[in-house]
Amino acid sequence: ASIVHPETPLEEDRGDLSLRPRYLQEFLGQAAMKENLSVFISAAKQRKESLDHLFLIGPPGLGKTTLAQVVANELGVDFKVTSAPALDKPKDLAGILTTVTEGTVFFIDEIHRLKPTIEEMLYIAMEDYELDWIIGQGPSARTIRIPIPPFTLVGATTKAGMVSSPLISRFGITCRFSFYEQADMEAIVHRSAGILKVSIDDDAAALIASSSRGTPRVANRLLRRMRDFAQVLEQGHISRRVVQEGLKRLEIDSLGLERYDREILKIIIERYNGGPVGAETLAISVGEAVDTLEDYYEPYLIQAGLLQRTPRGRMVTPFAYEHLNLERNSNGNN
Ligand code: ADP
Repeated sequence: ASIVHPETPLEEDRGDLSLRPRYLQEFLGQAAMKENLSVFISAAKQRKESLDHLFLIGPPGLGKTTLAQVVANELGVDFKVTSAPALDKPKDLAGILTTVTEGTVFFIDEIHRLKPTIEEMLYIAMEDYELDWIIGQGPSARTIRIPIPPFTLVGATTKAGMVSSPLISRFGITCRFSFYEQADMEAIVHRSAGILKVSIDDDAAALIASSSRGTPRVANRLLRRMRDFAQVLEQGHISRRVVQEGLKRLEIDSLGLERYDREILKIIIERYNGGPVGAETLAISVGEAVDTLEDYYEPYLIQAGLLQRTPRGRMVTPFAYEHLNLERNSNGNN
């Protein structure tokens, strides 16, 4: 299984529970977003109202679920969590909505995957705090409306473009997550190391941080792996040397790329002279579905400044040549 791709759930991520920040103060990075949120939270608390529905957008592993839980803790209310694919039948949603208490934070992950019937139900719940419920069957069937306490829906998605506009319009607050800065990533590594009670040098934390794709989930995974290497190599202390050796063994490079990420760049360089190459053609060349390529591999390659999406297709950047230590073909058109 891939370590640096935060979207593949790993068994070991379950162990993250203790690493999860519980309050805004422990939630590192994303400063601008946090500042706004803390204002909205205080205001809602002062007015003794539920917080506006909250829409969280961002790549996997950046802390959307964590933030939803933090918001519930800050407000001092119940927290319920589900994901859109788990809401198959109306009764699945009704089952949760009927247990909502005053101000509950109800988190729905992957909200772009809601079924239309469920989405309709959710509109009413979000807007009127009511649950439409059909009782009976056939001609005697009738709809009753069950009131539910005011609550806060937190919807999270990695693909804002796939969320319907009626749903988006029902969220009062939108938070966009960006990949974490190096300094924030280092702070996260140090915080996690403290919780896991492992000793780590600053330059070792910096290297884990820079190899983690700006993604806390990846940093926590790498930290745990490095703890293992450290146990074998240096009596449990994580030094920079341990991290260098560990990353080498895991075939993770200084930008947090795994072999397959590098393979994609190499194919564009070697077969298509650096690009542009169409997404379909590229997908076939690397043996992946276009969706997988676009959703899974490309975002970070683009973010890291290695790849560009252009109207004519994908192109590697000069930085990609540099990073892979490959010569640019002077006949190339880039
Ligand atoms: P998402 O829901 O966006 O996929 P999660 O909320 O599951 O991401 O976060 C993944 C892990 O990363 C969490 O278990 C948590 O330990 C860590 N994490 C996320 N955001 C932060 C943060 N801002 N500060 C510290 N750790 C974080």
